[in-house]
Amino acid sequence: MQCAGADLSALAGEFGTPLYVYSADAIAARARMLQGELAAVEHTICYAVKANSSLAIMKMLAGMGCGFDIVSGGELERVRRAAPEALGRVVFSGVGKQVWEMDAALEAGILLFNVESEAELEVLAERAVALGKTAKIALRVNPDVFAETHPYISTGLREHKFGIAIEKARAVYQRAMGLPGVEPAGVSVHIGSQIRSVEPFAESVKRVGKLVEELRSDGMDIRYIDAGGGLGIEYGAVEFDPAASVHAYAEAVMAASRSVGAHLLLEPGRFLVAQAGALLTRVLYVKQNGSKTFVITDAGMNDLIRPALYQAHHEIWPVVASSREAKVVDLVGPVCESGDFFAKDRELPELRAGELVVLLDAGAYGMSLSSHYNTRVRAAEVLVESGVGRLVRRRETLEDLMAAEIY
Ligand SMILES: *Cc1c(COP(=O)(O)O)cnc(C)c1O
Repeated sequence: MQCAGADLSALAGEFGTPLYVYSADAIAARARMLQGELAAVEHTICYAVKANSSLAIMKMLAGMGCGFDIVSGGELERVRRAAPEALGRVVFSGVGKQVWEMDAALEAGILLFNVESEAELEVLAERAVALGKTAKIALRVNPDVFAETHPYISTGLREHKFGIAIEKARAVYQRAMGLPGVEPAGVSVHIGSQIRSVEPFAESVKRVGKLVEELRSDGMDIRYIDAGGGLGIEYGAVEFDPAASVHAYAEAVMAASRSVGAHLLLEPGRFLVAQAGALLTRVLYVKQNGSKTFVITDAGMNDLIRPALYQAHHEIWPVVASSREAKVVDLVGPVCESGDFFAKDRELPELRAGELVVLLDAGAYGMSLSSHYNTRVRAAEVLVESGVGRLVRRRETLEDLMAAEIY
């Protein structure tokens, strides 16, 4: 089995397992697909760094003209290192921005602060004045639109912690207009992640478009509509046509910026990287407990937490095909938690110790959500370019892991 022309068995031999493998071509193809669909409007794709914060991937996307959606000072530092030329294409989201993070973003001259509360607005205005800067802002409005997805990644309802209720937004913008140091320049919205239908996107940008008109009539120069991220993919074995999906999505989100004439910002994460990445792992043991068969791999929930956290499904393939009969098994990791599983009661070709398996569609929220739980080093990462796998993050050492501790 190959990833973009690179042999997975060879990569595992060279770099060890667990190993994240990404296809540069697949990421670039997705970015181009989205850029192509948006060609009719002025736009900037601000890649959501938290989906996969690999510096090598960020550098590549910046080279294609992308900006970034960041949610922390740490992610800002990633942009500075991977693509300093893209700092002017950064939007800063998040409900809990700290003063040092605002200061760093103000000094960097980012494009837009997506402000999530009045209290944050006041602190930002104060910091901008103190530093002699003007912060271009959008309020992240909460459009009260329901998007069918996992409850942990749905964000667009009044009951969620994100944004400012859209009915309240106009008044908060008016306050912002009176504050020194901040300049209302856009309206932003992000209703959640892994959303597979376009209606919620269409409905929320429609509400945003209406607000933009009101704000302009109040005298504000609103140039940007930030429609957020959230476009989903198909994780199952079901046929998925990304081109059709992105076409329908683009039509929906472009509608508002077309009608009011605003620069469209999008913050896709998952759609660009999820299907471009896989997690390669080796089977350590196979054991039988009563009627259940457990296949134990060297990757665990600390490497890929999506199944445990979101009941997420990942397709699993043996790297070398065999003609052995299929068996119903649980594919689990070595971590001391019953939640440490990749698949339960899944029919897979019989696997034996030492064999390699690959978990597909692991390019988003895989490595970026990984941890050191059980004092396990994080996986290495390989980016495949022109058929050749290049190490873009070495495997951590135990030394790395304990370096910050004092005892
Ligand atoms: C997580 C997030 C995104 C990216 O979401 P995807 O589902 O990966 O596209 C975009 N914007 C904001 C504000 C986010 O929190």
